[in-house]
Amino acid sequence: VSTWSNVPAGPPDPILGITEAFKADKDPRKINLGVGAYRDGNGKPYVLNAVRKAENILRDHGADKEYLPITGLPEFTKNAAKLAYGAEAAPFKDNAISVTQSISGTGALRIGGTFLARFYPHSKVIYLPVPSWGNHTPIFRDSGLEVRGYRYFDKSTVGLDFKGLVEDLKNAPEGAIVLLHACAHNPTGVDPTPEQWRAISDVIKEKKLFPFFDMAYQGFASGSTDRDAFAVRHFVKEGHQIALAQSFAKNMGLYGERVGAFSLTTADPEEKARVDSQLKIVIRPMYSNPPLHGALLANTILSRSELYNEWENEVKGMADRIISMRERLYDSLTSTHKTPGDWGHIKSQIGMFSFTGLNAAQAKALAEKAHVYMTMDGRISMAGLNGGNIDYFAESVDKVVK
Ligand code: PLP
Repeated sequence: VSTWSNVPAGPPDPILGITEAFKADKDPRKINLGVGAYRDGNGKPYVLNAVRKAENILRDHGADKEYLPITGLPEFTKNAAKLAYGAEAAPFKDNAISVTQSISGTGALRIGGTFLARFYPHSKVIYLPVPSWGNHTPIFRDSGLEVRGYRYFDKSTVGLDFKGLVEDLKNAPEGAIVLLHACAHNPTGVDPTPEQWRAISDVIKEKKLFPFFDMAYQGFASGSTDRDAFAVRHFVKEGHQIALAQSFAKNMGLYGERVGAFSLTTADPEEKARVDSQLKIVIRPMYSNPPLHGALLANTILSRSELYNEWENEVKGMADRIISMRERLYDSLTSTHKTPGDWGHIKSQIGMFSFTGLNAAQAKALAEKAHVYMTMDGRISMAGLNGGNIDYFAESVDKVVK
């Protein structure tokens, strides 16, 4: 009898399953709105010009393939922290940010979860927004934390349940960890306003909760990396110590390169050095040290002003294209088709995704009848829409709603 005969089959990943169904569909009109990766105006994967140029620079310099240190490329992690916190942030200026390179945003969350499970003294409970990115629960559970939820999305308004959010944070046990999406909340596309962020910061302070920011989309929400960093910078200015997971998958289009960073703000350089030493002890047995190439690419862009400026323009270009698709979809549903329902949320939501309000039966009907694929919670990747397919998509939505 085989050693593994007792291994039960696990459920398929809900998002990757959609990609499989999409690939198997032979209809030329098919659209995949399940994936969380940017597509250009022709529906094609997009490699940024800034990235192409950085690749050329690296090739011309004949960079070697030596190991990185355990916490990664120091110039890269410094520049990543500067991008998130801002050069003027007190902990950045004071050399009090402990930061490590990570295997993209997922790895940053996992390093953070493990570090908090080991050293955070006040609680082993982490609160996630409901709903949240599907991988958050297993990441933090596997890190050894207890996962609970706080209200976030209000189905009736297709917007933020601000009252529920504040109530749940007020009722959380003192010292609990709270996961916050820094911008472009996945899967809902619904973010707090600056005023709401200020109020959330106040509640977190009052209840002595610990804020852990997941910033997977800096620049992707508004088109400005500074504006999208508002929440993180506000919390730091307010004196919170924070944890932060960063990803360069979306904003630099470096998905498969796995470039990210995890950081903690500490009291001073001496404390930072102690935290650094323990981050190394967390990371070393997991993967020894992170991959080199993507960090070199990202750092080349972050450290050269001409590439940095080109990159910021390209981030804005991606965000603007998504925003223009929101407007076209809204117009098409409301003016062209007069589709029943209020579709204003399509325009007010932000980032890669829109929570359309379509239910599971409608999402299923769209796949089966119209060859349009999305997750069963009605989430669509706005980046999958373009001038060539948006009219067909709106028409298909109209048919399943009417
Ligand atoms: N966090 C959120 C909210 C995300 O949506 C994603 C990607 O979809 C990630 C983190 C991590 O992605 P990656 O590991 O590719 O950086």
